[in-house]
Amino acid sequence: MIKADYPLEKLKELQTPFYYYDLDLLRSTLDELILQSSKSNFEVHYALKANVNASVIEVIKNAGLGADCVSGGEVQAAIDAGIESSKIVFAGVGKADWEINLALDSDIFCFNVESIPELEVIDELAGKKGKTAHVALRINPNVSAHTHHYITTGLSENKFGINMSELDKVTGLILTLTNVKLIGIHFHIGSQITDMTSFQGLCIRVNEIQEYFEARGIVLDHINVGGGLGINYEHPNHCSIPDFEAYFKVFRQHLILKPNQTLHFEIGRAIVAQCGSLISKVLYVKHGTSKTFVILDAGFTELIRPALYQAYHRIENLSSALPEEEYDVVGPICESSDTFVKNYRMNATRRGDIVALRSAGAYGEIMASQYNLRKLPKAFTSDELK
Ligand SMILES: *Cc1c(COP(=O)(O)O)cnc(C)c1O
Repeated sequence: MIKADYPLEKLKELQTPFYYYDLDLLRSTLDELILQSSKSNFEVHYALKANVNASVIEVIKNAGLGADCVSGGEVQAAIDAGIESSKIVFAGVGKADWEINLALDSDIFCFNVESIPELEVIDELAGKKGKTAHVALRINPNVSAHTHHYITTGLSENKFGINMSELDKVTGLILTLTNVKLIGIHFHIGSQITDMTSFQGLCIRVNEIQEYFEARGIVLDHINVGGGLGINYEHPNHCSIPDFEAYFKVFRQHLILKPNQTLHFEIGRAIVAQCGSLISKVLYVKHGTSKTFVILDAGFTELIRPALYQAYHRIENLSSALPEEEYDVVGPICESSDTFVKNYRMNATRRGDIVALRSAGAYGEIMASQYNLRKLPKAFTSDELK
């Protein structure tokens, strides 16, 4: 049983529920990421929206990664965390004027532009400041990510990016605008992608689009293929570090970079998911007519992924070594969707046991809410509890 990683005696003293981050695992994950990406002209930006916990961001900044932001708040958080503005990229379908102005004032590396009207607004706001905004066109490549439909973003039916049919219009327009400079193209096809052929499909599409620009004499220095690398939610103990080698290899093999081009990545989940757990206490074990419910003091207010995307998180009872039994593990919130997993086998569970909901480092703490007037939970790190 791999329970040794948790300082159980220390965890027991803390008010549950809370997030627990294993920063040593985060550091090892970053070491592997950097080892595999530095073999080529690749630059990795951490997608802040996965987790902005201050201790987590600090470790990521120290590893030298850039930042991928999708809001003004995230641009500010990246700057506050000490990430160099020259490594910050900013995407999003609905950038407000204040967010664009903040990014212009901060001299970020690049705006990933998602529509013609947005391009015109960035040009206008940059003009008012006497600045030139660097932009990359976020192109919707119409490539399937083979993932949950709520986290698929690269199909033409999705709201993201500029459709290929609009490319002539956009490139024509961009040449007439004086306060924006086209430096690259950007893609992001979805999240929790575990099928590498999806990324292969993206590479092939990028090659085609590169030819489109080359034929028009437009030189692009930067290609950004977004993020989306998935993690293994079934086996967090055996697959605690994602297979970055295989991931980057797909791009090395299938994406044809021109001389002097840099390939950018925006990785969120794969960096932070496995280092985080949601630690919760068992309030009650309730015997229904056909089921036994384990009722936790954590609910979808602390981890919404199961309710939102039917996502699975492994749950381990850290206090019990008794033989397994079958449970529905649920939260205390007044919604039936507040169920973490059904018909789940885990060690026989009693009131007061401490459980870990695994792989909760990405899209966990950052999506917490106060629904039912619950308090936002705290977070602790392995460094603090050593
Ligand atoms: C969410 C997002 C990412 C990161 O996605 P992950 O699946 O967490 O790697 C990267 N780029 C953009 C534009 C995003 O919206």
